[in-house]
Amino acid sequence: MSDRSSPFDSAVFDVDGVLWIAGALGEGTINFFDNLRKYAIPFCLLTNDCSVSKAERYEALTQAGLSLHTDQLVTVADATREWLINASAETIMYLGAPSTLLDIAQGFDIRESGPVDAVVVGDLFAHYDRRLLDMAARAVDNGAILVAMQRNARWSDGKDWYIDNGFWVAGLEYVTGKQAVVTGKPNQRAYLTAVSRLKQVVNDYSHIAFVSDDALTDLKGAKDVGLTTIYFGQERVLPTWVDYSVRDVESLTSLIIGRDHD
Ligand SMILES: [Mg+2]
Repeated sequence: MSDRSSPFDSAVFDVDGVLWIAGALGEGTINFFDNLRKYAIPFCLLTNDCSVSKAERYEALTQAGLSLHTDQLVTVADATREWLINASAETIMYLGAPSTLLDIAQGFDIRESGPVDAVVVGDLFAHYDRRLLDMAARAVDNGAILVAMQRNARWSDGKDWYIDNGFWVAGLEYVTGKQAVVTGKPNQRAYLTAVSRLKQVVNDYSHIAFVSDDALTDLKGAKDVGLTTIYFGQERVLPTWVDYSVRDVESLTSLIIGRDHD
């Protein structure tokens, strides 16, 4: 093994649009992560997707050929659960995918109507229920904290964009006049949860690369935490504070692993 010429000690990756492209692992992704292991660069994944459970996401990634420990996958459900514990919430209303609730629910009293401490909004697209939305709005009116697992307007699978969960969150904010607390990216806690999974002593966050195809949410939050931001994608016009921009896995490999990689 030769010395690396990379400035990074470790790296955190967004999933959709970076390593998972249009429902499959991106070209060169397996080799890239093999190189991270070869050069002993700790890494983990941090996704804002709340449409499936962590187990389902893990299985899709590993069955596609990615070698990954379960604690290297940090989901928005992990970040949400941490937030709720930290906020001492006990009773929760949940609007979203049932399988994702399993990653959050343990130890909480999950209710179908208020009063509750928090109303948690996940992915409602396949689980829309007008009655539940009415209950949620009433619970927030009565003092529940409106918690958004994420509030993104759009997400990209690397090929096309789609409406994201902000669609539901913005509606509930409009109806209740309350602003949601966002627990996933760009909340700092989400990044700190991911960094804790790197299992290394971190003295300088700028030595950790954060890679995403989403500049305004993912990279902005990472920048605020002090991570070094790497945009992955085809956009040519980016905010000036973005540290690096790469268009393909080959360039990403050179940047994170250094020029001596295979
Ligand atoms: Mg993405």
